[in-house]
Amino acid sequence: MDNGIVLTLEKKSQSTGVRCGRWSVISECESGHHHAKSLYCGKEWCSVCGIHGSKAHNRRIARVIPKAIQIKTMGYFVIEFPDAYRKIGAAGLTPDEITGAAWCYSKRDLIDTTNRIVDILAGKRNKTKRRNNGYFERGLLRWHWFGDKIPGKYNPHVNVLVDGAYIENDKLNEIKKALQNELVCPDLIVNYHYYDQPGQMYQKVEYITRPTFTDYKWSPYMANELYNFRNQRWWGKWTSAPAWSIKDGKDYSINEIMAVSKLQKNICPECGKPLKTLGYNFRTGRPVKWTRPIDSIYLMLWSATEIAVTGYYRLDKSNLTTDDIIYLSGRNNGMEGLNHGRKRARKNKQAGASGDECRRGAGQS
Ligand SMILES: [Zn+2]
Ligand SMILES: [Zn+2]
Repeated sequence: MDNGIVLTLEKKSQSTGVRCGRWSVISECESGHHHAKSLYCGKEWCSVCGIHGSKAHNRRIARVIPKAIQIKTMGYFVIEFPDAYRKIGAAGLTPDEITGAAWCYSKRDLIDTTNRIVDILAGKRNKTKRRNNGYFERGLLRWHWFGDKIPGKYNPHVNVLVDGAYIENDKLNEIKKALQNELVCPDLIVNYHYYDQPGQMYQKVEYITRPTFTDYKWSPYMANELYNFRNQRWWGKWTSAPAWSIKDGKDYSINEIMAVSKLQKNICPECGKPLKTLGYNFRTGRPVKWTRPIDSIYLMLWSATEIAVTGYYRLDKSNLTTDDIIYLSGRNNGMEGLNHGRKRARKNKQAGASGDECRRGAGQS
């Protein structure tokens, strides 16, 4: 890699937090409700976003909650690599001499390790892409990079939430063995607990989504490796009715968190209608639902009300009109951008480009 690329990557993976929250974008739904969201880098080592309970952290909670509340009793795995495995295989260049394996010291190996863990817990895919012989039909997974005990000591471990209650020792040992074999790591540490109280389950969601890589200097190398690494993974069908909720003990309820999670999916929490398309992305051809950034000071002037401390807002008193939104969305996203975007999208489709949602960085929300 030439120096220029390394420098750009470093710039992208660093963050000072100076800009986080300064700018905001606005949306209008098909019934005319207005919402805003402030822009945050979402990086775990950002001085603003990397704080426990930060808006970036709360946004991650909002992404997990709609699934987590479907879990009646929550099984919780922590899968941890012993010291000897943690720093083998930098960028896949120095794998273990005997087995050729590497586990968690490069983006490539992290993706592979994550896939293997999901393969065991959810079951491997057969030819028809169906998962077979798994232990849990659905689950949510997220990595923590550092532990609390020794700040700055690389301690990668995987947190997994599943539908699970008490597991017999024999069964639990079988799962442990399967993970150890699949990962070629005979002394892999696997811990399991389960929870059935809403408060505990909410706390687990809060806990696994928290930032752990809170200082860039702990490992600039790993920070660069984690650029665009999709840390939060899930599998299975999440279409069942909510099994629990939280009303008390917090400044906001699960309903407010659900409102944020709707906006994250570009749906209006007030009326359930989609957010209006304001134009199309110049490069990807995907619909643009939020305006260009404006100074967040406007949110104060409009007495915007924040939803669940996430940097998402309701704009009841803004007096914004549809024309304002079109104006704020910028010229390139207007008719001109729209036509260009459509053309581009058609071309991409023909070229067989995938429409996958962009991969998110470590903890980016
Ligand atoms: Zn930030
Ligand atoms: Zn609406």
